[in-house]
Amino acid sequence: MTDHACRACRSRSGHLVLDLGEQPACDYFPAAGDPGPDPEYPLEMWLCARCGLAQLVADPTVPAEPRGAEPAALVAQAADAVGRAADAGLLRAGSTVTEYGSPHGGSWLGLLAERGLIPAAPGGPADVIIDCFGMMHAADQGAALAERAARLSDTGVLLLQYHSLNAIIRGGQWNALRHAHYAYYSTTALTGLLATNGLHPSAAWHFDLYGGTVLLAAGRQAPRTGAGRESVDALLADDVKVGVTDPDVVGGLGRDAIAGADGLRAWLVAQHKQRRVVLGYGAASRAVALLRRAGIEKSLLPAVADASPAKVGLRMPGTDIPVVSPAELGARKPDAVLLFLADLRAEVRAAYPEVEGHGGHWVDADSLSGWQGSDSGGLKQHA
Ligand SMILES: [Zn+2]
Repeated sequence: MTDHACRACRSRSGHLVLDLGEQPACDYFPAAGDPGPDPEYPLEMWLCARCGLAQLVADPTVPAEPRGAEPAALVAQAADAVGRAADAGLLRAGSTVTEYGSPHGGSWLGLLAERGLIPAAPGGPADVIIDCFGMMHAADQGAALAERAARLSDTGVLLLQYHSLNAIIRGGQWNALRHAHYAYYSTTALTGLLATNGLHPSAAWHFDLYGGTVLLAAGRQAPRTGAGRESVDALLADDVKVGVTDPDVVGGLGRDAIAGADGLRAWLVAQHKQRRVVLGYGAASRAVALLRRAGIEKSLLPAVADASPAKVGLRMPGTDIPVVSPAELGARKPDAVLLFLADLRAEVRAAYPEVEGHGGHWVDADSLSGWQGSDSGGLKQHA
């Protein structure tokens, strides 16, 4: 029990399930020449015993995050998701639409305009409300959902897309936890929170993005049968199987954090001993907690390349590792490139053929969890 009150239901009954200690703001990249130390804040996840919402505890004022380049994987997924919702008859031409966007970008409004949907009046009711990774950024989850529900027309549909807690647990994705991301939704918890606002899931779609992303459609009528209902029930059943509301299960993310950091460090030390050149790729927020937790400095990882020109010349928060241009992947001829964004694997292999052209390998950082150094540096399985 802490003095934390649930961001959705206000209950004070719950469990601290993941404690990553003090962490820098993962989206504030200091200049490479800035000696630090960077400000750090506690980073903890709490699971509400009443409504089941997994959430961020501390609420520090962190610097606004820059909007990075939109990865092709995200753009492709948006088109896929909009297509599926349209096929289900949820996106009719002439309907009004509003969007609660994510500060990371990824708006669906362009795709919906192409399908003939019309922007709703600011603050007014809407037939379709899109929330694509938006609501997780709201500190007050109860108020955020109530606002969306209030704007939905009687026959309208709320489309909520989220990186599912189910996938976070299954994938050991403990570094999904970050400042300014206040909620980590299971379909189970979200279904309960929707019900308190008079809304009920009517269909769900699962995507591989981020290791497991769900698009949930909800409206004021609860369908009792049909394919939509079955798709929601399947996700709810899988949540039960995984144990998304069980504090012991969600607390496994703490063990995953230790294994992830230890494995990464052991692998980088082994590469260093064998004089292999390793660079990182993807100066992403999710890399920050991993590098920081593992205590990685530039002696083990000399640079992280990133396609966003705005990040070049900066350094990874909480470390002395500089962010460099992808041109360095060709210039430094690394033996291995540690990929912090597994979703980008196909994209970066195609964009930077020089890595494999020089005999180098792409290594998913997530795959090194628990690595203990029994083979030739973890490279064979990725060759
Ligand atoms: Zn709660």
